[in-house]
Amino acid sequence: MTKLYNFSAGPAMLPVAVMEQAQAEFLDWNGTGCSVLEVSHRGDAFLEMAHQAERDLRELMAVPDNYRTLFMHGGGRGQFSAVPQNIASSTDSADYLDCGIWSGFAIREAEKYLASVNRVAGQVDTEQGRAIAPVEQWQVNPRAAYFHYCPNETVDGVALHQIPAVEAPLVADMSSNILSEPLDVSRFGVIYAGAQKNIGPSGFAIAIVREDLLGAPQQSVSTIMDYTVQAADGSMYNTPNTFAWYLAGLVFKWLKQQGGVAAMGKLNRAKAEHLYAYIDNSGFYSNPVHPAYRSIMNVPFLLADDALNATFLSEAEQHGLVGLKGHRFVGGMRASIYNAMPMAGVEALVSFMQDFEQRYG
Ligand code: PMP
Repeated sequence: MTKLYNFSAGPAMLPVAVMEQAQAEFLDWNGTGCSVLEVSHRGDAFLEMAHQAERDLRELMAVPDNYRTLFMHGGGRGQFSAVPQNIASSTDSADYLDCGIWSGFAIREAEKYLASVNRVAGQVDTEQGRAIAPVEQWQVNPRAAYFHYCPNETVDGVALHQIPAVEAPLVADMSSNILSEPLDVSRFGVIYAGAQKNIGPSGFAIAIVREDLLGAPQQSVSTIMDYTVQAADGSMYNTPNTFAWYLAGLVFKWLKQQGGVAAMGKLNRAKAEHLYAYIDNSGFYSNPVHPAYRSIMNVPFLLADDALNATFLSEAEQHGLVGLKGHRFVGGMRASIYNAMPMAGVEALVSFMQDFEQRYG
């Protein structure tokens, strides 16, 4: 097992046990004598695995019976276009909470498929840092086809920890926080996530869609992005990403063994608290987000002197701490601490940061 801790925002580290299993059975999967990459997605062995993965996901998230779980192509951004085309008509308007960089990308994509997008001002600057405006201040459209938001902004490190109470069907981009803690799925119309943070390989996506939102896609939606078709065809309208589906299935099994999302939520909070507490007390590092709106998955932080960034990153790497460079839009550092990051990884990061502060602070 490697001693390296990978803090990359995504593709991100996967559980070591999952990678080892995938490696061990890579050439002979499930006694078939073939790799899982080489078997038909319509064969019994693959279908059995695929259905089990779906059952495990539903169990982990306690998905109610009136929701369909779809395994889609095209990652998180694929869903930016799938959502408006599947659950609204081209003459509709939808509300989009603008609470960070990924919200902005989702808005620009939705504008192509809707008559209008109502950009609801979300992110605000406060004396205690970046925050999200309280729901009473949101300027919503009472006729919106749906309300879209991103509860965990991967780049900004901002999170909305309460599910907003809005009238329109609620759509959430959970690419960077799906499966990270317990969630009441019944509050949502659609939940979607690109896979490469808490689920598996990139390019793959999960969409959890309430059944009453199916059945009326825009005519021009490409068939592989059509929720209604994919729901009818068990997410196998065309050949799915079989390897991603398989790996996601292993991650779901691993999550169940860890105690599911309740155990993950506790661990994720403990990891985040450890890191934020150190940053807040250090005087050398700072986090730009209001404490009530901090992400437990993505922790951006700045050094007191930007000129030390390159030294910090190269020394961190020598200590086996990789992937800490902040997003190119915002600079600084970012530690992404998804489900697969153990507490030991966060402790190793904090002790390196302490040591660095002592030498350069
Ligand atoms: N939404 C969020 C919140 C993300 O963090 C990302 C990727 N970092 C995406 C969407 C886009 O995902 P993809 O690259 O799979 O299209």
